[in-house]
Amino acid sequence: MPADCLFCRMASGEIPVAKVHEDEMVFAIRDINPQAPTHVLVMPLAHVASAAALTEADAPLLARLFAVAAEIAARDGLDGGWRLVSNVGPDGGQTVQHLHLHLLGGRRMGWPPG
Ligand code: AMP
Ligand code: ZN
Repeated sequence: MPADCLFCRMASGEIPVAKVHEDEMVFAIRDINPQAPTHVLVMPLAHVASAAALTEADAPLLARLFAVAAEIAARDGLDGGWRLVSNVGPDGGQTVQHLHLHLLGGRRMGWPPG
């Protein structure tokens, strides 16, 4: 893992952060700059640079990421729906180079996204 990766440092506990979920494969935190009433980042403990680095061998990890996002959405009472986003690269708006799903909800989302 890159020594300077913010989310790896959170995963290892080197940077303390309140985790809204943690298991042996993934963890989730509330975004520091929320774009919706619920804005949670769900990500693998192990470093993956972005969705561009995923292969079919990552199927169990992807299943877990989506299942945890659904669990948190239910726990936060997002009964009207929610959105999952994963930004990739500069054009996708990715600012932290460690794969994460943005779980957004609690307000009506626009389309297309900015
Ligand atoms: P992205 O721009 O898609 O790579 O998403 C990175 C997200 O990480 C942004 O929404 C940031 O607000 C969020 N973020 C950056 N630093 C922190 C932090 N220390 N704690 C929680 N979220 C953070
Ligand atoms: Zn990392």
